[in-house]
Amino acid sequence: MHDVVIVGAGPGGSAAAYYLARQGLDVLLLDKSSFPRDKTCGDGLTPRALSVLEDMRLLNDLLRVGYRLNRVEIASARGQTVEAPFPGKNGRPGYTLIVPRFTLDDTLRSHAIAHGAKFQDQVRVIEVAPTGGGMVVTGRQAGGSFSTAAHVIVVATGASIPLLQQMGLLKKMPTVALAARAYFEEVRGLTDRMQLSFAGVPLPGYGWIFPLPNGAANIGAGIFPWGWAGRWMSRNARQAFDSFIQTPLLQDMLAGARQVGPVKGYPLRMDFLSAPTYSERVLLVGEAAGLVNPLTGEGIDYALESGKVAAEHLLHLFASGDVSIHGLAEYDHLLRQRFQRLFRVCSLTRDLFVNSLLINPMISLAARRPDLKLLLIKIAFGEQNTLNNITPQRIIRRVFAG
Ligand SMILES: Cc1cc2nc3c(=O)[nH]c(=O)nc-3n(C[C@H](O)[C@H](O)[C@H](O)COP(=O)(O)OP(=O)(O)OC[C@H]3O[C@@H](n4cnc5c(N)ncnc54)[C@H](O)[C@@H]3O)c2cc1C
Repeated sequence: MHDVVIVGAGPGGSAAAYYLARQGLDVLLLDKSSFPRDKTCGDGLTPRALSVLEDMRLLNDLLRVGYRLNRVEIASARGQTVEAPFPGKNGRPGYTLIVPRFTLDDTLRSHAIAHGAKFQDQVRVIEVAPTGGGMVVTGRQAGGSFSTAAHVIVVATGASIPLLQQMGLLKKMPTVALAARAYFEEVRGLTDRMQLSFAGVPLPGYGWIFPLPNGAANIGAGIFPWGWAGRWMSRNARQAFDSFIQTPLLQDMLAGARQVGPVKGYPLRMDFLSAPTYSERVLLVGEAAGLVNPLTGEGIDYALESGKVAAEHLLHLFASGDVSIHGLAEYDHLLRQRFQRLFRVCSLTRDLFVNSLLINPMISLAARRPDLKLLLIKIAFGEQNTLNNITPQRIIRRVFAG
């Protein structure tokens, strides 16, 4: 019987494995893929993500392979831009880093193994069920079946929901955002700016241009097809991507560029506000707990952070010898304390302003009002201290005050 079995070796699962294994717990990390593997993503690591990676002592290695961006630029639907440096407050790095997931996830997984976690690839877990004093994990692997047991299971399966459904953890289908991206080489005009744009993309939604070393870039678009907008919006991220790369800015940047590999799309779960995060002998981390920023679609940061929070909480419970549901429930409290307000403010900011009526005046106002521009950037990038003092009413007042 392992202490902990972690299902899913993305950023959430590997971070949890690292923090648990380095303290001497018996940890088995499982993934259905063989590594290194790709994960459809924009590859953007926010300052939040970078501070966990720094804590894991991986930041210096990643700085050598990633592309550092010091500023963020946001373009309105009409193409008007505002730009600013990343705030870098509270000891967080004042920049972002773009690292392809092919490299990032393998680096994280190897790091967890180097600190004592065991890893098994090509195991698709299909069932997690209680047994006397623990949980049994059953799966399929090449040529047969797989089975193991643990005191506690950490589910870190990302946006994939079949396992959560089998475990009875999803009472309803989560609403998802949809996004698609492709890699390009020899892209013109790349700078040290993280470029986000509302031009050419159905709203609520946005496109991104994230530069990579040697003139390459990860370019993509995401849409949030729910609420009012969801009634008429096409649920096709590929269409949003195609329309984004037809905009004059992208036509210019991609003239002479070469697409490398296919355009790939994948859903994003952003339902943390109502998602379960634990059950008997089970904790959920990262996107399996709906932890993707509802305004920006970033989820690597929250996967890393929740992986760390889950591991630290489990270490505390194992030390006390009590992994009962009451102790595990405290994890939900820790996550809500940390993320609930942020997710609420980000959802409301998206619902209020990311629409065809308000996005242009909002960006135009932010271009004239540095305080407003900074506020929006801090909200989007999850600057905790800002959020402690902010309510949706205050945002509206700040917007209309000037
Ligand atoms: C197009 C797109 C662009 C994005 N851009 C960004 C961005 O720029 N920055 C950012 O921060 N976030 C971005 N995101 C979100 C980000 O990719 C995810 O939120 C993040 O990967 C979640 O991490 P995770 O560890 O929770 O899950 P994942 O990274 O999805 O990892 C889950 C792992 O679980 C494994 N797995 C799943 N089911 C099973 C099973 N039954 N058995 C065994 N293994 C299983 C999978 O193989 C996978 O390795 C983007 C998402 C999309 C779709």
